[in-house]
Amino acid sequence: MTTTHTAKAHILGFPRIGAERELKFALEKFWRDEISEAELVKVGQTLRRRHWAWQSEADLDWVSVGDFAWYDQILNTAALLGCLPERFGFDPKRLSLSQYFALARGNAEQPALEMTKYFDTNYHYLVPELSSESTFDGGVEWFFHEIEDAQTQGHAVKAVLPGPLTFLWLAKAKDGYNKLDLLPKVLARYTAIIEKLSAKGVRLLQLDEPILALELPLEWQAAFAPTYQELAGKGTQILLATYFDSVESHAQLLADLPVAGVHLDLVRAPAQLAAFTAIWPKNKVLSLGVIDGRNIWASDLNKVLAAIAEPAKALGGYLWLAPSCSLLHSPVDLAQETQLDAELKSWLAFAKQKLAELSVLKKAINGSDVADVLALNAFSQAARRASTRIHNPAVAERLANLPPQFDQRHAPFAERQTAQQQRFHLPLLPTTTIGSFPQTSQIRAARAAFKQGKLSAADYELAMQAEIALAVQKQDALGIDVLVHGEAERNDMVEYFGEQLAGFAFTQLAWVQSYGSRCVKPPILFGDVSRPQAMTVAWSTYAQSLTDKPMKGMLTGPVTILQWSFVRDDQPRALTCQQIALAIRDEVQDLEAAGIGMIQIDEPAFREGLPLKKSQWASYLAWAGQAFRVSASGVGNATQIHTHMCYSEFNDILPEIAAMDADVITIETSRSDMKLLEAFGSFQYPNEIGPGVYDIHSPRVASVNEMLRLIAKALEVVPAERLWINPDCGLKTRGWPETEAALNNMLLATQQARAAI
Ligand code: GLN
Ligand code: ZN
Repeated sequence: MTTTHTAKAHILGFPRIGAERELKFALEKFWRDEISEAELVKVGQTLRRRHWAWQSEADLDWVSVGDFAWYDQILNTAALLGCLPERFGFDPKRLSLSQYFALARGNAEQPALEMTKYFDTNYHYLVPELSSESTFDGGVEWFFHEIEDAQTQGHAVKAVLPGPLTFLWLAKAKDGYNKLDLLPKVLARYTAIIEKLSAKGVRLLQLDEPILALELPLEWQAAFAPTYQELAGKGTQILLATYFDSVESHAQLLADLPVAGVHLDLVRAPAQLAAFTAIWPKNKVLSLGVIDGRNIWASDLNKVLAAIAEPAKALGGYLWLAPSCSLLHSPVDLAQETQLDAELKSWLAFAKQKLAELSVLKKAINGSDVADVLALNAFSQAARRASTRIHNPAVAERLANLPPQFDQRHAPFAERQTAQQQRFHLPLLPTTTIGSFPQTSQIRAARAAFKQGKLSAADYELAMQAEIALAVQKQDALGIDVLVHGEAERNDMVEYFGEQLAGFAFTQLAWVQSYGSRCVKPPILFGDVSRPQAMTVAWSTYAQSLTDKPMKGMLTGPVTILQWSFVRDDQPRALTCQQIALAIRDEVQDLEAAGIGMIQIDEPAFREGLPLKKSQWASYLAWAGQAFRVSASGVGNATQIHTHMCYSEFNDILPEIAAMDADVITIETSRSDMKLLEAFGSFQYPNEIGPGVYDIHSPRVASVNEMLRLIAKALEVVPAERLWINPDCGLKTRGWPETEAALNNMLLATQQARAAI
C-alpha cells in the first residue's frame, strides 16, 4: 500500500460477456465446432484487455484480474484449486477447455455440476461438489496467465478471487459432510496461490466474502479470524470484500482481521458505514461501495460525496472508492443504446459509465476541479426527480384511495370453491397446462419479421391467431379440461407486459449474464406504472371463442415483473410492486368482464425475492403477498384465480403462500418425486393444488406409469377434491411431438387415477 494521502478507486469485477455479447457468441460457436479453441481463447483475451484498458482509462488505481471466466467464476476457482468432482475423471492440472465445459454443461457420461443462484442475484453459479476425500492440490494456471497478460499490458494488478470461506459455503458436501473440515486443505492451496501472486509482484488480492452478509452460523463466523490469520503476511495484501447487504454485526471482527482493508456495500446498506467509521483502525483501508453495481441508474454524485465527506477526511489515503459489488450484474455500455431518448439516457449508467463516475468521485475527493461534471450531474438528477414522465399523479391518487378490502377476495375460499364448481363442472382431478406451448421457429420467425417491419401488424395477428387455434385444437383433441391459449404472441413473460405498460423502457443491448453464455435483458422500470389499455383480452377471448372448455387467461404477476426488471431506486420496491399490482388487477378485471372465468397470475420469481437475511423475510412476504392479492382480488367469487410458481421450495414460507389465497396453485414437483408437496400436506394447505406430474426440462416423454405413481403420491397428501393434474411448468422450450406424447400420457394416467378413486 502506498502512503500518499489520496483516495483510490477500483472495481470488484467487470462483466466478461462483452458489450456485444462477444463471449456468448464465441462460446456457442466453439460448442458447435464452428471455431477453434485458439479462436475462442483470442476472444477472451481481447475482452479482458479491452476491459482492463477501460479501467485504466478511468484512472482506477488497479485493474481487476480474476473476474473473467469462460463459464463461471466459481467453477474457475474449483479448477484453480484443483477440487473437481471425481466422477468426471479429469486431471485438474491438465484440464482442457473442453473438459471445463463438460463440467459446466455435462457430457455423454456425466450430468453437469448443479447450478444455483448466486445470493439474491439473477446470476447462477456452478456448485462445487466436495467430499471428505476432496483434494486441493492445484489445477489450471489460467488465473496466473491472465495476471501476466495484464502486467505485460502495463497495468497495476489487483487479483480477485472468491474468499475461501465463501467458496466452501457455496459448495455442496456429499453426505452431509461438514465442509469446514476441509478448510485446512483449502487454506493450504490459497496460501500457495498467494505466495505465487507475491512472486509475480502482485501486491493486492481481493477475496470476496459475501457470506458475511447472511445470518451466518457461529461456527462459520468463528472461522474468519483463523482463516485470515493464516493468509496474512504472505507478501500480497488482502482486501476482504463484502456486498449485497449489511455486515454491520461483524464490524469488530472485520476491524480486527489482519487484512489490508475491507469493502462495504453502501448502496444496499448505507447505514452500516457509521458502525465501521466509529471503530475503524488507523492504517486500514475502507473500500466504500457507493455506486450501484446491480442497477442501471446514474449515481447522484453530489449526494455520494456529501455522504462520504466525513469518513474521507478521517481515512485519507485509506479511503477507496468502488461500486457496491462486481459490475457483473450490470449491462456493459450505455453508449450503444441508440434508440433510448436522450433524457432517459441521461439518467442511466451501465458498467462503462460507472467507471467514469468512479473517476469523477475520486477526482472530487482528491481535490481536482470537477465542478462542471458535478453540476451537470446535479442537473440531470433534479430533472429525473421532477420529470412528469416518471411521476403520474393519477397513479399516486389511486394508491391513496384504494377501496376497502382491496387486497381480499369477496368471500372465503370454501364459498368461492362452491361457486366455481357450480360454474365449471370440472371432473375430479381436472387436467390443465401451465400456459405456454412450443415456441416454434415458425412463431419466432413471424415475430422477427413483424419487428423488422417485414410483416404487417394485421398479418402478424393472423399468424398468432393461427398458432393459438392450433394449440386449442390440439388440447381439445387430447381432452384436457382447462385450456390455455399457448402464449405464442409472447417473446418473454415480463417483456411482453412491460412493453404494454406505462413506466417501462426497453434497451437494445443491455444484456446481463445469467449463466454461461446465457444473458437476460431486463426492462427498465423507470416511472409510475399504469396500464393504458387491455394487454391480453383480445388473445384470450379469441382463444375462448374456439372452444367450449374453460380458457385460462394468462398473466405475469407483479412480484415477478418487479423481480425481473431493473427497477427504480427513487422509491421503495414495495411501492413499485403495488403499482404493478394495480395494473395487473385492471387486466384481471377486464378478462373477467370479457367472460374469461379462470385467470392465472404467474409468480415464478416470488421466492427469489426473499431477502438474504431471514430476519427481513416477514416484511418482504407481507408486501409481496399483498401485491399478489391486490392483483387477484378485484373479481367475483365464481372467477377462479390460479397462480404458478416454479423451482420452488415452500416449506419455510407456506403460511404466506397460503395467504396469497389463489384458488389454485400449480408448482414444480416431479423432479423432487413429489417431496416438495409433502409440506403442503402437513401444513394442510387449504386451497386447490396442481403439483407437476412430469418434468418439462427434458425432451424425454415420461410414461403413464411414472405419472400414475406421482399422482398416487400426490393423493396421499392432497384430497382428490383439491388436486389438479398438470406438467411442472410451461412447454415453450419443448417441441410439439414430445409435448403431445407427454400430455397424452398425462391424460391416460389421470383417467386411470380417476377410475381408482
Ligand atoms: N405461463 C408461463 C409459461 O407457461 C409460466 C412460466 C414460468 O413459470 N416461468 O411459460
Ligand atoms: Zn414454472
